[in-house]
Amino acid sequence: MTRRVAIEDGAAFDVREGEVVLDAAERQGIVLPSECRAGNCGTCRVKLVEGRVSYAAWPSALSPAEVDCGFALACQARAESDLVLRYERAAYTEPSRQSAMVTDVAALAPDIVHVQLILPELERLEYRPGQHVNVHLGDGSHRTFSMASPPQGNAIDLHIRRIPGGRFTEGVLAGLQPGDMLDVEIPLGTFHYHPEDERPVLLVATGTGISPLKSIAQALMEDRDCPPVALYWGMRAAAELYLHHEIPAWGEKLFEFAYVPVLSRADASWSGRRGHVQHAVAEDVRDFADYSVYLCGSPNMIRDAKALFLERGADPAHLYAEGFSFQRHEALTAGVS
Ligand SMILES: Cc1cc2nc3c(=O)[nH]c(=O)nc-3n(C[C@H](O)[C@H](O)[C@H](O)COP(=O)(O)OP(=O)(O)OC[C@H]3O[C@@H](n4cnc5c(N)ncnc54)[C@H](O)[C@@H]3O)c2cc1C
Repeated sequence: MTRRVAIEDGAAFDVREGEVVLDAAERQGIVLPSECRAGNCGTCRVKLVEGRVSYAAWPSALSPAEVDCGFALACQARAESDLVLRYERAAYTEPSRQSAMVTDVAALAPDIVHVQLILPELERLEYRPGQHVNVHLGDGSHRTFSMASPPQGNAIDLHIRRIPGGRFTEGVLAGLQPGDMLDVEIPLGTFHYHPEDERPVLLVATGTGISPLKSIAQALMEDRDCPPVALYWGMRAAAELYLHHEIPAWGEKLFEFAYVPVLSRADASWSGRRGHVQHAVAEDVRDFADYSVYLCGSPNMIRDAKALFLERGADPAHLYAEGFSFQRHEALTAGVS
C-alpha cells in the first residue's frame, strides 16, 4: 500500500510498501538531510508530527526515549500510516557545490591531520557551528568532515583521522598539498549549536568528534548569555589529545568552563581520568534533566551515552548527537544518492 508523507513546510511525496522514507523522498526528487544511510549517524533525525513508522532493524542512532518524544530516523523508517514530518530546514543555509583550495595540511597527532580549505568563490561562508562539508571524489561518492572552526570568512578548518586503508583519509590525504583543489558541498548536516537552548552545556566527544564541538565552543565564546560549559573528550592515548594544551585557555572566554580528558588506553604516566568518556560524564552528573548535551564521535559511544543519559533524566529534545559513521558507498554507486 502507498502512504503519503507530508513535510510541514509544504513538500509531499508517496512512500511504497516496505520503502524507507528517505529513499522514497529521493526517488521523487526531494532531498532530505542524511549522511550514513545506515541509522548510525543521526543526521536524518526528524520529528514525527503525525503517523506511525517501523524499523526492519533498530537503528543505533535512535533511542527508545527519542521515539517516545516523537523522533524518527528517515533513512531507516518505514511508514505504517500517512505521515507528517517536521524539519528545521528553513533555518539552514542552502548547501552549494564549490571548488575549495587547500591552504594548509599539517599533522596534529600521529593519525590526525589538520586541513584548511578556502572557498575562493565565496566572500563569506555562513553555516551553523557543528555542521559539516562533503568532499566529492568524482565517482559519485563523497566523504564527510565536520568544520572545526566557526564561520570565519571563506576558510574552514577540518580535523581528519586517517583510517587504515581509507581511500580518502589515507590515499588522497597523504598526497594533499597547499594549492590542490577539492570538490566540496557545504554546509550540510543537522548537528549544530542551538543558541536558543540556554541550559548548561555538556560537550562529549570521542576522537575527532571534538572537531564540531570546538566550533560550537567557539560560538559559545561569542554568546553574551553563555551558560556553564563542560567538555569531556575521550581518546585512547595521551599523544592523541591534540588540543590538550589549547583547550584550558577556552575557559578565559567561556562561562564556568570545565575540561575533562578521558583516556581508554592510557599508560602509567597518565594521572587523569581513565575509561570510556560516557562513563566519566555519568560519574560526574547524577541528573541530566537540566542540561543540553552535544555528543559527537564514535557511534558506539553515542549509543551508550544516549542510553545512560536518557535513563538519568536527559531530555531527548535537548540531546543533540552525530555519529562519525562511514559512508555506505554501495548505496551511492547504486545511484541512490
Ligand atoms: C556527519 C559525519 C561527520 C564526520 N566528520 C568527521 C571529522 O570531522 N573528522 C574525521 O576524521 N572523520 C569524520 N567523519 C568520518 C569520515 O567521514 C570517515 O572516516 C571517512 O569517510 C573515511 O573515508 P575513507 O575514504 O578514508 O575511508 P573509506 O575508503 O570510505 O573506508 C575504508 C574502510 O574503513 C572503514 N571506515 C571508514 N571510515 C570509518 C570510520 N569513521 N570509523 C571506522 N571505520 C571506518 C570501513 O570499514 C571502510 O570500509 C564524519 C562522518 C560523518 C557521518
